[in-house]
Amino acid sequence: MKAFELLRPASLEQALELLPKPADRERVRVVAGGQDLYTEMKDRLIEPDQLLDLKRLAGFDRLEIDGAGNVTLGALLTLSRVAEHAGLRASLPLVGEAALSIASTQIRNVGTVGGNLNQRPRCWYYRHPGAHCLKKGGSECFSKEGFNKYNAILGGGPSYIVHPSDLAPALVAAGAEVVLAKKGSSRTLPLEQYYTLPRDGDPLRETVLGSDEILTHVRIPAPAAGWKSTYLKFKERGSFDFALASVAAGLVVEAGVVRSARLVLGGVAPIPWRAKAAEEFLAGKPAQPATWREAAAIALSKAEPLSDNEYKVALSQNLIERAFTRLTT
Ligand SMILES: Cc1cc2nc3c(=O)[nH]c(=O)nc-3n(C[C@H](O)[C@H](O)[C@H](O)COP(=O)(O)OP(=O)(O)OC[C@H]3O[C@@H](n4cnc5c(N)ncnc54)[C@H](O)[C@@H]3O)c2cc1C
Repeated sequence: MKAFELLRPASLEQALELLPKPADRERVRVVAGGQDLYTEMKDRLIEPDQLLDLKRLAGFDRLEIDGAGNVTLGALLTLSRVAEHAGLRASLPLVGEAALSIASTQIRNVGTVGGNLNQRPRCWYYRHPGAHCLKKGGSECFSKEGFNKYNAILGGGPSYIVHPSDLAPALVAAGAEVVLAKKGSSRTLPLEQYYTLPRDGDPLRETVLGSDEILTHVRIPAPAAGWKSTYLKFKERGSFDFALASVAAGLVVEAGVVRSARLVLGGVAPIPWRAKAAEEFLAGKPAQPATWREAAAIALSKAEPLSDNEYKVALSQNLIERAFTRLTT
């Protein structure tokens, strides 16, 4: 690993002063738990001169639920605390379930909310130091014609990565917002808009985070009355693993009829994939198995599998049906 200077700001103001201009983006990197960043450095995928360690920033590890049920998750909050918080699991089960599905206890004890939402793709070509793929400034996404079992079936092109975070689909389904701070100002945007498709933005990046910005916290609005939610994830290994496919689902059902629904897919697209057509279809339909089957078909109707990942279509459809069945039985 290349030697680097460790900067340990004592306040957010100090941290923001130290963030780089866009031209120096590669020189300075923010580090939280380091579970992803250090791996990238050891593999020489990135070689920053300076690391900006956020761990001394006061209040960045908070988990608050206010009287109205609105939730605040600090960027440095560990995934373990999200997974284990009884109040959060009661009001927003999908968030706790997603956090608990991540990696192992040891990784959850160190990995943070901000790090999980900003972790880099796990595509084998991106992670291989010898593969100069599109995500690293090359001209081609090798997975399109190459090894693509784990890659995107929705929203792909020109890069076919899938977003690796489990927390992200759950938080998008919960309607979360992220707060981004930079020197002198901050902005808030829906988490859904934080992620960008490779075809819509810079294929080297997955988010709209500026080089001079830090994600400070996530806000989740209080769930609507009667809202039930769950997160289901399918992994290749029984022990810790990333999602081959996952589903974050939420429903309000009244008198046997769906009043509103949220459906976000993970592991199948470069961003948490909101299945809006399926959500719209569900509103006003009877809460029954045939409805879930049709919603699942709609959610995957635009899938464009690559040579080795067609299995993700049926897998995602099954997870959707199971998630809605779980919420209504
Ligand atoms: C073996 C293994 C298995 C895993 N399995 C899963 C899994 O199943 N599901 C899953 O979702 N994840 C999984 N992960 C990923 C793991 O959850 C993430 O690596 C972890 O959440 C990253 O958190 P961190 O705090 O260590 O981030 P870091 O490694 O410190 O940072 C990760 C990235 O986020 C940026 N960053 C961190 N904080 C901020 C901030 N506040 N503002 C802006 N940018 C920031 C960093 O610059 C860096 O680019 C796995 C990781 C490993 C090593």
